[in-house]
Order: sequence, then C-alpha cells, then structure tokens
Amino acid sequence: MESIDVAVLWIRSRVQRRSSVTNLRIASSIQSATCAGNLIPGTKRTCSTCRIDTIAMNSSATQPNCLFCERCDDSRLLPVTAWRCPDCLGPVSWRAPTRFGVADLDRSTSFIWRYRAALPSIEPRITFGEEPTPLTSLDLGGATIGAKLESSHPTASFKDRGCALLVNAFAEAGVARLVEDSSGNAAASLAGYAARAGIPCTIYAPAHASSGKLIQATAYGATVVRVEGSRADVASAAEGAHDPERGVVYASHNWHPWFIAGVSTIGFELWEQLGHNAPEALIAPAGSGSIILGAFSAFSMLHAAGEIDRMPRIYAAQPAACSPLVSALEKDAIDVETFPHQPTLAEGASIAKPVRGREVLAALRASGGGAVALSESEIAAATRLAASQGLFIEPTSALAVAAAERLVESGRVPASTGTVMVLTGSGLKSQAAIETIVSSTLQSDGKR
Ligand SMILES: [Zn+2]
Repeated sequence: MESIDVAVLWIRSRVQRRSSVTNLRIASSIQSATCAGNLIPGTKRTCSTCRIDTIAMNSSATQPNCLFCERCDDSRLLPVTAWRCPDCLGPVSWRAPTRFGVADLDRSTSFIWRYRAALPSIEPRITFGEEPTPLTSLDLGGATIGAKLESSHPTASFKDRGCALLVNAFAEAGVARLVEDSSGNAAASLAGYAARAGIPCTIYAPAHASSGKLIQATAYGATVVRVEGSRADVASAAEGAHDPERGVVYASHNWHPWFIAGVSTIGFELWEQLGHNAPEALIAPAGSGSIILGAFSAFSMLHAAGEIDRMPRIYAAQPAACSPLVSALEKDAIDVETFPHQPTLAEGASIAKPVRGREVLAALRASGGGAVALSESEIAAATRLAASQGLFIEPTSALAVAAAERLVESGRVPASTGTVMVLTGSGLKSQAAIETIVSSTLQSDGKR
C-alpha cells in the first residue's frame, strides 16, 4: 500500500511539473505522502521510509515532517536537518497540507500555533506567549491602506514566525547548536528563540557588517563569527559548520522550508483579522521572498478549502539597487539571475539571488500580482511618511509603503484597507540608516 501511494505521488508530481503554475508544490493538489503512516510513534521517532530520526512524530500526526526535493526527486525523503538537495543542490521542500479552514483553527492558542494544522507536527514548547500582530492603517496622501505591524513580535520582526517553528523543531530534536548566516533580523530572531530554548547559537556575518542588528544577537548570547570575503563566503562558512552527527544544525531562514511554513501564518492571521476574507492585494518587502511564498501558501490553502473566493494579488517590493525579482519579471524569465547589487537603505532586502527565486516568481505570477523596484529617495520618503503617522519602521519595511504609493497611484491596487502592506521590522534596529534619512531631511528643510 505504501509503495503504491509513493508511486502515485511520483506520477502525479511528474504531471504537475509540466505546469509552470502548479509547479509550485505549495499550490498543488497533491495529497500528503505516506511518510507519517510509516513513522513509529514513541521514543524512537524513526521514519521507516527515510530511516532517519524524525522529530515530533506522534501517533496523531497527520502530516509527514520529512523533506524532499521537488526539483529532481520527490519520492526520496530527506531528514528534517537537510537544508539542500544532495543531487541538484537546490532547496528542499516540505509537503504542506493542501487546504485549511475555520474548522482547523486551534482556538486554544494564538500566534503560529493557532494554525498548527497547516504546519509540521511540532509541539510548541518554546514560546513568549506571542499574540497576533496588529493590523492598522496608514494614510498615503488620501488613500488609507492596511498595515500589518510585524515589528510587534518578541524580537521585533516577522522573522519570529519562521524562527519560532525552526527552534521548536530543533529543540524537540535535541540539537546541540544552531548555526545561521545573517547580519539582520534573522540573526536576531534565531538567537532570541535559541536563547529562550537554552540552545547555543552561532551567527556567521560579513566581517564589515554594521553592528546594529548583530548587537541584538550578541546580547541574546549568540556567538557571532565575522567572515572576510563576500556574502557567499559567509554562507559557505555557516554551511560548513553543519554537522548533524555532532548535533550542529544549519538552521537557515533562506533554505529551510519550515521557516516559510512559519511565515505562512501571516496569511491565516490576516484572513482572521479581515473577518475571514482575503485582502484584495498584499504588498511585502522581498529579499529571499519568504513572505511572498508563505502568504501564497496560506491563501492557496484557504482558497482550496472554500474559505475565500479569490486569491489576493501579491506584490514584492524591492530596492532598485537589488531587484532580481523585478528584473526577472521584466524579462519574463522563469528563474532569477544574480543581480549586480549596490548598497541600499533597505539592507534587509539586499539579496542578489534568492534561493527560491523560481518559486517566488511563480507565486507572484499565479496571484496576478507583480514586483516593484523603489529608488533610495522613495525608500527614505516612505520611512519618513510612516514615522510621521507614528509607525517607526526600518527602511526595508518602507519598501512596502513606497510600493503601495506607486501601485495605488497607477490604479493597480485599490486605495482602501483591502490593500495590506506588511511592515516587516522595527526602526529601532536600523538607527544608523534612519539617522541618515532624518539628517538629510533636516538639512533639506533648512533646520540644520
Ligand atoms: Zn534535487
């Protein structure tokens, strides 16, 4: 029976792969694999299919936690500690549920765990008592647009949705140390949750990265290792530290599919906050594109369950100085190319080649949305505009505000609270950049 199911899955996946839209596993109608049925509940927690210890697999598990590669062989299951496919070296995937509805809500809790039926089977033990982030609004010169304040998470950015899931998963697996490469919000988030879990954490960062957000990770107790060379060299150092035999796991927010699963809960949360409706349009800053992928996944599940009657149009906001998604859409390309990037105020979105760029492009196209490239002056103006209404956001978050202004002005999104911007992180973490913005404003206003 198990082998038949796996064979059916393999054939279905080959058929599905022919469509550029349904190529997205998260949007597919493929039923779950049978790995969960093969798992041995109890203390061993060993998957009899992949023969590797698998975490949090209890007798009530309905979803397999194992990973697989959807680009080359989705019949072969990989351990939860895998961060890339051993064959094509591409990102690995997790077989998410195909639908989620009101009946699936866990009303006993909040935060990502309220939507745990849509997540890998993991017990939430490491928490801060998190609550939903506020959905407020911002006036863009007469147009009032919805604004999701992700800075109100425990470490002050949306990354907490993904890191909460990753750290709980790896804590349950009993890992000895978590490793990550980042100099931004992901470093702070992973370090914060690791501190809460009592798990040692090492953050690899560029040698010359500003200490701004790294101070937060250091304060949480993370070991920060500065690496000379390019951003790729930093990533290589972190990847090289991955050693599951010794319990050292590369918990990459760019690579691990569960990070995106955690981030997907922003879509479910918005749906609840909008009275069980989808926004007309969702605009989010995009570096690696995890919000794009996560939101698309959540709204796809809600749509499949009949909870919403249409998908929101999803727009990625990127700095013009680093806009590989915009470039690929303009060229009508299937995948992104490495973008020759320049320094930008929106440092959180400065990723020259997103790991899952192909999937992000497919999600943007399938939603009917797109991507917008913003100049440095637009980013600075949007940061000031948000602050003038009491929202102290980092310049990376201001990408969404600047993009919303453009999209409203061109009539591509409604000038209403049915359009929602994701404000990803707090301005308190980007004080140097905001000081530059404020100083130049004062100078141009003649106040200095
Ligand atoms: Zn592969």
